[in-house]
Amino acid sequence: RPRVLSGIQPTADSFHLGNFLGALRQWVTLQDEFETFFFVADLHSITMPHDPKLLRERTLVSVAQLLAAGVDPERATIFVQSQVPAHTQAAWVLECLTGFGEARRMTQFKDKSAKGGEGAASVGLFTYPILQAADILLYRPQYVPVGEDQRQHLELTRDLAQRFNSRFKKTFRLPEPYIMASTAKIYDLQLVEKQMSKSIGGSGCIWLLDDPAVSAKKVRSAVTDSETEVRFDPVEKPGVSNLLNIHSALSGTDIDELVAAYAGRGYGDLKADVAQVVVDFVTPFRNRVHELLDDRSELEAILSAGAERATEVAQATLRDVYDRVGFLPRA
Ligand code: ATP
Ligand code: MG
Repeated sequence: RPRVLSGIQPTADSFHLGNFLGALRQWVTLQDEFETFFFVADLHSITMPHDPKLLRERTLVSVAQLLAAGVDPERATIFVQSQVPAHTQAAWVLECLTGFGEARRMTQFKDKSAKGGEGAASVGLFTYPILQAADILLYRPQYVPVGEDQRQHLELTRDLAQRFNSRFKKTFRLPEPYIMASTAKIYDLQLVEKQMSKSIGGSGCIWLLDDPAVSAKKVRSAVTDSETEVRFDPVEKPGVSNLLNIHSALSGTDIDELVAAYAGRGYGDLKADVAQVVVDFVTPFRNRVHELLDDRSELEAILSAGAERATEVAQATLRDVYDRVGFLPRA
């Protein structure tokens, strides 16, 4: 089976609805068709100032959310990035193949360092796309599921793989972007032109682990428009279209069917129904996460097995890398 790899950062107390519909839910369907590796990218989470205790907790809570979403440790390799040292080891080699200007062109560094200015940003934030390249290349995956925001990084990954292969010897496979057929892009319920995101958070963000009543209230207060007709039109009616998308993604009902059902009814009905659909989803999800967190030794056992399997694969690639760049093997 072709191999697929993807990661998610443990940068918040909970994942949000966009993370679930745009990533986690897709991961679950990938398990059937591919040999999958999914990891919690804790190394990437220290590129910005962070709290150590929180990071540790969030890492475990992230794993619990992957499992609650349906990622299955029997079929997928689930691991924590920092537990597989080959990632940082390969990253160093790739950093030495990356031009300074090339790294500087990565727009996420520009975006994320924009607030405090470049001087306040860490070197880790600057080199983060190279670590990401290592994350990927070590597993020689055929595909990497990526959102629009990650396209540039995947290009860098491919460039570095090609450079290494031609400078030394063919070692890395050039991964292809895997665009999911129906990846729902979920927008902020208040700032309807922005994607729902962990870093924005706030009253437009549906956290999976929030009290469901809080999420229902957020849905009922979602920004719509000054018309009254429920129509799917992401340009003219981004708020309403986002609500339709969320409903459709969670209930499995076609958008057309939903639109027809709301003919002659107002936004209030739509919001009430979306709120209900969201509550029906997050309630059992959250309960499952809490159940999983009640038995941390079980989670740790899953991670231990995942790290072992991931290390096996990553270490084999790293051995080739070290050999080809000319490092003297330990006798
Ligand atoms: P941050 O604000 O820190 O960038 P984020 O909420 O954007 O956090 P990421 O960790 O960047 O989340 O992304 C994790 C995964 O979730 C990625 O696969 C990304 O494409 C997906 N994702 C994030 N936000 C959305 C969204 N609003 N709709 C659909 N998919 C999303
Ligand atoms: Mg993001």
